[in-house]
Amino acid sequence: MTTLDISPSVEKTPLERYVPPDKPSLVGLTRAQLGALLGAVGVPEAQRKMRVQQLWHWIYFRGLTSFDDMTSVSKELRAELAQRFTLDRPEVVAEQISIDGTRKWLLRLPGETQGERPHEVECVYIPDTDRGTLCVSSQVGCTLTCSFCHTGTQRFVRNLTAEEIVGQVMVARDRLGDWPGAARPTDGIVPTGDRCVSNIVMMGMGEPLYNLDAVRDALLIVADGDGIAISKRRITLSTSGVVPNIERAGAEIGCMLAVSLHAVRDDLRNELVPLNRKYPIAQLLEACRNYPGVSNAKRITFEYVMLKDINDSIDDAKALVRLLKGIPAKINLIPFNPWPGSKYECSDWEQIEKFSQVVFDAGYASPVRTPRGRDILAACGQLKSASEKLSARERMALRAMAMTD
Ligand code: SAH
Ligand code: SF4
Repeated sequence: MTTLDISPSVEKTPLERYVPPDKPSLVGLTRAQLGALLGAVGVPEAQRKMRVQQLWHWIYFRGLTSFDDMTSVSKELRAELAQRFTLDRPEVVAEQISIDGTRKWLLRLPGETQGERPHEVECVYIPDTDRGTLCVSSQVGCTLTCSFCHTGTQRFVRNLTAEEIVGQVMVARDRLGDWPGAARPTDGIVPTGDRCVSNIVMMGMGEPLYNLDAVRDALLIVADGDGIAISKRRITLSTSGVVPNIERAGAEIGCMLAVSLHAVRDDLRNELVPLNRKYPIAQLLEACRNYPGVSNAKRITFEYVMLKDINDSIDDAKALVRLLKGIPAKINLIPFNPWPGSKYECSDWEQIEKFSQVVFDAGYASPVRTPRGRDILAACGQLKSASEKLSARERMALRAMAMTD
């Protein structure tokens, strides 16, 4: 079990030193995949379901990193598994911890083909008093090019595998001591309750609905009640609006949905979220109305990034409220988090408050989190592979995005 390394953050190691794993890890496999592997190492069919259940418990409930500790599994099978597999997680190459307990991990993943340079993705943990939210990536880079998003300027490299998506959750739980009997952090905000990671948002790098199969497998593993067991109501998938996959996500995953709306008119949304040219606002909202399971108890979150003089007028706010009429919705106003070279500015705080008031008066609770005022600035949408410290702005915008109630 990894103990929590609080003060000196993990040093970033040069890429040249990266050695891809020689044995595959069992971490991140579905029950069916584990069953098939057990079959391949000679476990008779009749025993497989029971063995999978045992492994599941040790891997996902207890978070074991060694087969030796799997006391309910026979010595022979443990040895056999250890010979062929590991319980490794993705390699953590850097960890940053902010004063308030926000943590960012840079993970190194193998290239897709032999000899290809390894890839890096980030994952961020945002603690609050009553919850801890993990912001997880679905791709290295993104194929889309939203004009306000830093990831959108980066080359799309590849989809993450289900293992790598689950791996982000495992790493966070390792580093936070979020397994039974492990030591919790002693610095920053530590949520009350029995979990450090209580919520997941698919809001890191990438468009999850363009990697739906892997995202589905990963989220179903994370939600499985015999393992990590984070309820689907506490898992939110954020999409820029890949309309044909919205229904599939609802039917096959059943988690909460967040939609990056950001504009109330197609001409502006075409510019901000170019995918809108393919799936315009009316189609997107129709898909939201039909999202499986949507109800007042299971609302869709509409994300709206506040861009100065672009989409932040009072008329925009009124139009937003009109547009969402009849859809069980929450509205999340995200202060724009600028990045080097970005062509937008964040709306003035007074404007955000005025905008927020219109939305609030229409019956939407707390559309922007302001407890720390101007401080609340950061965005998961712009995780990047540099390992500089999280700024106060970033930290607080991250908090605005840790939007699950
Ligand atoms: N691709 C998905 C999920 C990742 S982005 C999506 O677009 O929804 C997560 C959220 O961060 C999205 O709402 C995105 O629009 C927002 N975002 C991206 N860049 C941002 C920035 N610089 N400031 C504020 N929010 C940003
Ligand atoms: Fe991709 Fe989302 Fe960024 Fe758009 S906002 S470029 S979809 S990560």
